[in-house]
Amino acid sequence: MKKDDCIFCKLANGEIPTNTIYEDNDFRVFLDAAPSTKGHCLIVPKEHFDDLSELDEEIAAKVMPLAKKIMKLLKEKLGWDGFNVIQNNGKVAGQTVFHFHTHLIPRYNGDGQDLNMKPGSPKEGELESVLKEIV
Ligand code: AMP
Ligand code: ZN
Repeated sequence: MKKDDCIFCKLANGEIPTNTIYEDNDFRVFLDAAPSTKGHCLIVPKEHFDDLSELDEEIAAKVMPLAKKIMKLLKEKLGWDGFNVIQNNGKVAGQTVFHFHTHLIPRYNGDGQDLNMKPGSPKEGELESVLKEIV
């Protein structure tokens, strides 16, 4: 299903032009309009899903193989030194476009980007108590 007011539905389905580097029946991969690094692109399904929790299982199963394929293509063409695969869900997690997408971000020595998580320092027993809440 497409969503009428969704920009990524329009981009993924070619209603609005993109800088496309790959397309198949299920996905379009295009350059991010505000790239964090050279070659930063987005894997976007043609169907609308708000986020990962809503994503169709069959489409979900195709995302990582496609990420790997594009990662290898970008290695060959741009020669990155490292690579981030990032997928944001919900406003608090940094999602700004509410149509599922995966960021592919080539990294270069000295690129000055900081996409790393800050490590926490849990108190004694905290991890065990979180574990109890989950399992
Ligand atoms: P997120 O913050 O994970 O929702 O990522 C949304 C991404 O979409 C951002 O990196 C934006 O730069 C990118 N973006 C938004 N609009 C466009 C557009 N029209 N074409 C390409 N990328 C876009
Ligand atoms: Zn959409």
